[in-house]
Amino acid sequence: MGHAEKAEIFNKDEAKVNWHDKALWYVREKRDASAHKVQGWEYLRELGSAIKANVLSNLDAYLIQFESNAKKNGVNVHWASNAEEHNAIVHKILEAHQAKKVVKSKSMLTEECHLNPYLEDRGIEVIDTDLGERIVQLAKEPPSHIVLPAIHKTKEEVDILFQEHLGTKPSNGNPEYLVSEARKHLRDKFLKADVAITGVNFAVADTGGFVVCTNEGNADMGVHLAKVHIACMGIEKIIPKEKHLGVFLRLLARSATGQPITTYSSHFNKAEESKEMHIIIVDNGRTEQLSREDFRASLHCIRCGACMNTCPIYRRSGGHSYDATIPGPIGSILSPGMDMKKHSSLPFASTLCGSCSNVCPVKINIHEQLYKWRQVIVKEQKQPVVKKSILKVAGVVLAKPSFYGFAGKSARFVLKYAPKFMIYNKLNAWGKARDLPEVKNENFDAWYKKRNKNG
Ligand code: SF4
Repeated sequence: MGHAEKAEIFNKDEAKVNWHDKALWYVREKRDASAHKVQGWEYLRELGSAIKANVLSNLDAYLIQFESNAKKNGVNVHWASNAEEHNAIVHKILEAHQAKKVVKSKSMLTEECHLNPYLEDRGIEVIDTDLGERIVQLAKEPPSHIVLPAIHKTKEEVDILFQEHLGTKPSNGNPEYLVSEARKHLRDKFLKADVAITGVNFAVADTGGFVVCTNEGNADMGVHLAKVHIACMGIEKIIPKEKHLGVFLRLLARSATGQPITTYSSHFNKAEESKEMHIIIVDNGRTEQLSREDFRASLHCIRCGACMNTCPIYRRSGGHSYDATIPGPIGSILSPGMDMKKHSSLPFASTLCGSCSNVCPVKINIHEQLYKWRQVIVKEQKQPVVKKSILKVAGVVLAKPSFYGFAGKSARFVLKYAPKFMIYNKLNAWGKARDLPEVKNENFDAWYKKRNKNG
């Protein structure tokens, strides 16, 4: 199924769609209010984009510098060219410590590598400790949003889920009760964990340290209690110097949730005494994306989720309809780069309104890249014969004003007298959710000429 078919499933529950739409728009409005309070916000975005462009142009040098400084700090650095290598490295570290219990804070990279099922198949318990992540983990679902993983779930649904899995009492979706029960449940998991896995928001080449941003403090809790810390990062997470954190931390929190700063921006430089720290630097298709001139800027992404919150398609189709680790507008650029055949419908899941590009804190030209992908996909993939023929005819008609005028005249006649089912029928997906405007007797051109003639 492509995006449209999956979106149709989400769209069956209209009340939920409306609520999902409103909830995300609320986050978008919070982002606007918070961004507008910063003098020079646009300058900050420019700066963020320029730093990222510099990083991508010198990625090899920054990565080596980061590795060398991290090693000086006593950190074990590993390189993985793909998801399989990444997962195998994590497993090897766990085996070396005979670790059976892992706590993990939110990391889209480990989602991308499908680390959880890989480890679970090998008898290791992996507990996602971000509350939203834990909810979707209990529901056996992937996250539907990169910042708000369980945004598609109502509090009543979470109530039932917790009753089933955590043995809680029915609370009619009382958030305070549910959060306090989740806290108790997770505290036990933190205390028993052998290893803590985190993602990396920003890795500083100059120091070999890195920063993990959470609102729940779950990364810190995991790392401080477990004996071993494994941090997994994509190669694009590098920033040159510590001072650049001032740019990105301000951009990230405001764009993600409208907060002035994430509650915990935790800096990790080296392991505590008698503990161990590992960093796994992962490529998994990023170098290839870097080589695609039209799409390399997608690697600027700092995973704030703002493009999802603002996207009219995402808000009304839900994250799962993208069937990709990163959904929404930026996911629709990244995913076809990983598997064009599977994700060929995603660049078309956009109105190309440009709202995503307008809110992106690192100024990625998202809607332009989506349009580019459409051109690539149409060239490289076989298109349905009907669609191809219609577009061919449209090309001829639109190229000649006389043809266009004749086609308009005919359409006005046909649409007036043709039976409605010609447009509104099961075979015509276009007519399913659209109404044609009222058909006028004359076109704009004729009306304009008449108007001028009559003074
Ligand atoms: S593309 Fe931009 S707006 Fe979207 S998640 Fe990435 S940084 Fe945020």
